[in-house]
Amino acid sequence: MMETAQEVKTRVYKFGNKTADGNSTMKNLLGGKGANLAEMGLIGIPVPPGFTITTDVCTEYNQLGQDAVIAMITQEVEDAIENIEQIMGSKFGDKENPLLVSVRSGARVSMPGMMDTVLNLGLNDDVVIGLAEKSGNERFAWDSYRRFIQMYGDVVLGMKPESKEDIDPFEEIMEALKHKRNIELDTEFTIQDLKDLVYDFKEAVKKRTGHNFPTNPWDQLWGAVVAVFNSWNSDRAIYYRKMNGYPGEWGTAVNVQAMVYGNMGLNSGTGVCFTRDAGTGENVFNGEYLINAQGEDVVAGTRTPQQITKLGSLRWAELAKVEEEDRAENYPSLEELMPTIYNELNEYQKKLELHYRDMQDMEFTMQDGKLWILQTRNGKRTGAAMVKIAMDSLKEGLISEKEALLQIEPSKLDELLHPVFDAKALKRANVIAQGLPASPGAATGKIVFFADEADHYKSSILVRIETSPEDLEGMNIAKGILTARGGMTSHAAVVARGMGKCCVSGAGALKIDYKKRTLTVDGVVYQEGDWISLNGSTGNIIEGKVATSEPELSGEFAELMELSDKYATMQVRTNADSPKDAKVAVKFGAQGIGLTRTEHMFFEVDRIKAMREMILADTLKGRKEALNELLPMQREDFEGIFEAMEGLPVTVRLLDPPLHEFVPHQLETQRSLAEDMHISLEAVKIKVAELEEFNPMLGHRGCRLGITYPEITEMQARAIIEAALNLKEKGIEAKPEIMVPLIGTIAEFEHQEAVIRATANKVFEERNDTVEYLVGTMIEIPRAAITANLIAEKADFFSFGTNDLTQMTFGYSRDDAGKFLPTYIEKGILKVDPFEVLDQEGVGQLVQIGTSKGRSVKSKLKVGICGEHGGDPSSVEFCYNTGMNYVSCSPYRVPIARIASAQAAIKAQQ
Ligand code: PEP
Ligand code: MG
Repeated sequence: MMETAQEVKTRVYKFGNKTADGNSTMKNLLGGKGANLAEMGLIGIPVPPGFTITTDVCTEYNQLGQDAVIAMITQEVEDAIENIEQIMGSKFGDKENPLLVSVRSGARVSMPGMMDTVLNLGLNDDVVIGLAEKSGNERFAWDSYRRFIQMYGDVVLGMKPESKEDIDPFEEIMEALKHKRNIELDTEFTIQDLKDLVYDFKEAVKKRTGHNFPTNPWDQLWGAVVAVFNSWNSDRAIYYRKMNGYPGEWGTAVNVQAMVYGNMGLNSGTGVCFTRDAGTGENVFNGEYLINAQGEDVVAGTRTPQQITKLGSLRWAELAKVEEEDRAENYPSLEELMPTIYNELNEYQKKLELHYRDMQDMEFTMQDGKLWILQTRNGKRTGAAMVKIAMDSLKEGLISEKEALLQIEPSKLDELLHPVFDAKALKRANVIAQGLPASPGAATGKIVFFADEADHYKSSILVRIETSPEDLEGMNIAKGILTARGGMTSHAAVVARGMGKCCVSGAGALKIDYKKRTLTVDGVVYQEGDWISLNGSTGNIIEGKVATSEPELSGEFAELMELSDKYATMQVRTNADSPKDAKVAVKFGAQGIGLTRTEHMFFEVDRIKAMREMILADTLKGRKEALNELLPMQREDFEGIFEAMEGLPVTVRLLDPPLHEFVPHQLETQRSLAEDMHISLEAVKIKVAELEEFNPMLGHRGCRLGITYPEITEMQARAIIEAALNLKEKGIEAKPEIMVPLIGTIAEFEHQEAVIRATANKVFEERNDTVEYLVGTMIEIPRAAITANLIAEKADFFSFGTNDLTQMTFGYSRDDAGKFLPTYIEKGILKVDPFEVLDQEGVGQLVQIGTSKGRSVKSKLKVGICGEHGGDPSSVEFCYNTGMNYVSCSPYRVPIARIASAQAAIKAQQ
């Protein structure tokens, strides 16, 4: 195929010596890795020189075959190698001054595991001697050679195990030698051993492939280039593309780059550095290096790495208790030891951060007094550092307000909102089991098995098979909660998150014996009173006491939240059941309450009795008497919450859970209740049995309670309206929004609405005063979402209860899903837990249908979400795109949702 002069296209792009033919916008042609290397070269960063063969060549290879393509690019590749030789001052294949290269694949997106890298290419029996002399390190030269044959043999020559039962053919040879020499580690091989290995490896190649191992560096190079192209159509690459929907036409680029070595003597070294402190966010350049070492030596921990800056070195010495004399002599900083190289590195770090507009994590190598930057990427950081870096960068003018907000990973803010384990203490911790990270934070305390014993110790951890609403008080007292059963929306998880309390749930490995008061894990028995620690952010369960520290909300955190308000259009409310929670949420910037679960109020000691009397009463009169006892308490609750919310809207949900959750199951409590009510123990037992349900979650709960016992709704509506009127008298505004749970049909809503409005009117008449209030409903049953247009005719607002909506759409019981969801996720049947991250594909459709059908009859219908998803960033973005007015989440997630809301608005603009 002939090309005319105009048609000649570039197939090989060079980079190095602070220049490049390509740039970062050319990812499709150069692959991600190639484009980034070019970009660094272009902005004057000394990356080891090299070149990229384009993805187009891969496509041509697939069409025209090997010979045609090699012929097409030979000239360009030879020129590019010469360019590397000039920059490096060495020669490919030269015996005295050899240039070695690496060969890597690089598609436009990263495809992990598609093809392994070949390092040290260019070695043969002669070159290895030159390398040994040049480096003054014979062992290093021979070790590089045996690694090269191994990698090349595997990747290019197909030296794989013969069957799945076999081991790697090279490993087999090494194992045999170790056995013969009676050694265990690779590092114990002598130079002669390494030479023997090289010989044996080459013999093995010849035996298996019928050909000698290629000794000519150019043959080696073309072999590797072709292997990279072939890897694009390997089974695993095809499978990976299919899984991710990447087309086969993309092809892969090939990156060939000079090898540089940090272990070539005292004028060489290697290190890792960060443009800012990844732990605290402080704007100080920092990092570690080692002289005469390879990259893995810095992380291996066998030698003590030295600090890059003098400031870092002084700080390190203070912590490590190293005297200044010792430090200056044995652990000097790079700044002190090699000031010229340090200054150069310092210049590059500034340049790279400015260029990538974010904190950079860089790797570098010095070979014979020359500095090379091997890699740069946006650095990982803690939550605190994330906030500080974003706000500092904004103030420094490095990034814009929108960029600062988008730089925040919302869920990482969690770390700033809960106590955390002391990092040093955590290093020594013994993790005994793993559960779900149900509610973040760190907790350490003594084991108690019963909620009413949580106050037996100053710090306790409540360990339960599962929790129930009866445990509420104990959960509040305990420092943390650990359960063997239950998922991310189990009672324990939901309540703990609401309280901002650390919780690990669903730890199946725990065997709890309430009678013996023991917790057994892997045969080890822990007694009541033993110390245990929980990491609610990772789900780790740790033996013994681990020190914790209180998080500090720094000034930047507040500034960041203020900034988010400038861009967020969708509001953030909170789910709060008490004035205390409400106040926390207001402090975090909640713009209202999206859900008050009134049932949680009935579990306090003085109330549960009246509640039980109400449930057990056989007559309307009996029920009303008990409800009259509850009324003043409920009213007081609402007054407290309304007051805490300072005139912001408060959505109060009517009683929702199945009644049997309130009845006493223990004989002792049943007996005392019978006495209080002047009925027989038998009568109590019969009633308890009557209330038992097969499927409580689908049973007598939600609005079904208010329909069968309208007097409950009456009492609650009265308490809400009276509370609002009482505050009005005190000059405090209250904005109640009364919410009916678990509606499936419009008739259910109409029934409850009538009871609420009649009650309100009655109270208004009695008090000769009125307040504004709304009556709306939760949409948490699929039927309600589908018939939302009918419901919106009557309802003042919708709030999507996506916990129940997920339960009923998937048909997964919220309380039992913990038994199979982990397996589902492990087997890839589900990508994530749908109770945590809204299933946009399925449940999300119902949310969209419900919203648009509702707004088709009431265009301004207020729509929100109050399921646990209201605090999950990706779900928040979905809610924004659905056009919701607000999301509502537990108090401690409010800042997360506020950032997510701002980000959703910014992304929609872009
Ligand atoms: C829901 O179902 O999403 C909800 C908020 O209500 P609850 O979790 O109390 O059932
Ligand atoms: Mg619900």
